[in-house]
Amino acid sequence: MNLIKYAILFTIITLPFYMIHNFNTHRLDQRERLKNQYEAIINSAIEDGTYALKTYSKRSFDEARGKHISIETEEVMDAFLRTYHYGFKAFGDAAKDQYNQYIVAIVIIGYDGYYLYGTKQVRDVSGEVSPMPVLSEKKPYVYEDLDYAMKLTLDDFVEIVDTKTWEVEKGDFASIVHKPSGINESNFEGIRKRAIVASIEEGLRDTVISHNQWAKQQGMLYEFIVPVADNDPWSRTLDDIGLMVCIQGAPLGYGAFLDFFSFHQSNVLKIQPINGYEDMVDGSFYYCDHRCIHEQTDNLIQVFATKEAAAGEGFWPCHYLNK
Ligand SMILES: [Zn+2]
Repeated sequence: MNLIKYAILFTIITLPFYMIHNFNTHRLDQRERLKNQYEAIINSAIEDGTYALKTYSKRSFDEARGKHISIETEEVMDAFLRTYHYGFKAFGDAAKDQYNQYIVAIVIIGYDGYYLYGTKQVRDVSGEVSPMPVLSEKKPYVYEDLDYAMKLTLDDFVEIVDTKTWEVEKGDFASIVHKPSGINESNFEGIRKRAIVASIEEGLRDTVISHNQWAKQQGMLYEFIVPVADNDPWSRTLDDIGLMVCIQGAPLGYGAFLDFFSFHQSNVLKIQPINGYEDMVDGSFYYCDHRCIHEQTDNLIQVFATKEAAAGEGFWPCHYLNK
């Protein structure tokens, strides 16, 4: 055989391999593109949700608790879902339902508990029970042993109930007299974080089970799985309010499915609080920030997370900030 024949033979032998390789590469490319596109949509929905979380979270002090952060959960969910549906161009109810089925869980991590959006068995007016996505009430972070139940927060504020006498103690962990056995100031931080992560994981597990029951009823073949938080950065860095999102099962083509899990924190606890006062002289309301070193009236009314929040409630910047 001369050289040309060898060349033709070589081409005939290798061409199918080349074509298959090319086809596979194309498939992977397409899958990757779709995955990136979906993740970009979900990430911008998370950004909007986190923004709402930060904007509408009111940080205040009340006498009994010391610190309190209230979260407008409806606003957060609305902001997330609006951007999520918009990104997928899901405008009608049917299209929204289609994309909602991939939302396994959204966890709003609050200061002293979390809220879980996910599938739950709900009884309707006719008494029939069916699974549907709902936003839960606040679920507290709890650590329990035989003698005590300890409600935890994202910092060291705790509420401890003696389960035999029902006596309650509140305050920074260090200031608590009757502590659960085996917990001291040096291991409290680790136990606190593990207990919070365990609380959230328990909620996630329940939701995934309900979501799978619901998906089966819908004829979906996809098996939703509990996202594994162990060794994930989120469980180590969990120290502020935030949004955790688990979205699975959106088809990426060629038998592949989206598996998305992400946790975003907003810096609400870390920021310096804005103090709102009532001025006893002119009767107006003013706010001061951490730079204020002037003498302040002791008539502290409310603590805000942002100046915008203070202004929204009718407080003016104090004379020193106003300069
Ligand atoms: Zn001031």
